Amino acid sequence: MPVSAEQSHYLKTVLRKGEGAKVRVFNGMDGEWLARIERVSKKSCTLIAGECLRAQPENVPLRALYFAPIKKQRLDFLVEKAVELGVSDFYPVLTNRTENRKLNMERMRAHVIEAAEQCERMDVPALHDMAKLPVVLAQKQVVPLVVALEREESALPLSGIDFSVGAAFLIGPEGGFDDDEARLVRNSADVRCVALGPRILRAETAALACLSYVQLSTNS
Ligand code: SAM
Repeated sequence: MPVSAEQSHYLKTVLRKGEGAKVRVFNGMDGEWLARIERVSKKSCTLIAGECLRAQPENVPLRALYFAPIKKQRLDFLVEKAVELGVSDFYPVLTNRTENRKLNMERMRAHVIEAAEQCERMDVPALHDMAKLPVVLAQKQVVPLVVALEREESALPLSGIDFSVGAAFLIGPEGGFDDDEARLVRNSADVRCVALGPRILRAETAALACLSYVQLSTNS
């Protein structure tokens, strides 16, 4: 079974696994397997697959998170918790007030993989390229895009949205959407604006509140 140089390094140096050690492996398609390390060096590793431990879940629900990247440590926290709460796709969005405009995709990808392993997922969420807000709003969505908009009288509560077919959330930047952006959101087709309660939440809290709500209300 192919193992990248990076994974070999992780097995040998970080996890300190040697020849004969057992590890659990998944590739996002074939379930979870118990594998034995036949040979390992810092640059390469040979694994022999043994017993299948868990079958790959079927019909994993869509959980898309569109987010304006926040600063490093809080972004790491958001990514880790969002993976635990079942995000299937991360979509970084460039808004006028996005704080972190040069997202380090490799760093984020490493965090996504680590979090997926830690919470025993059998897939790794997709990380998409950063796109500008108007481009995101113009895209045809598989499910309506649910945009968290504070101080919006017409916004629905989360309980007013049907998440049985999947969920796609858009959370604004720390400074909020500016007036032009908020207008664009309101006027976009296939968008539902939601309110998340009486207080203004940090961007990561808003994202995790939405994802927690969907996980608990749909049990998926
Ligand atoms: N700086 C903005 C302000 O004070 O008006 C607040 C922005 S908030 C820190 C970051 C993002 O979280 C918002 O753009 C929105 O998407 C979401 N958010 C936070 N609190 C919310 C609420 N009570 N209802 C809906 N969305 C909320």
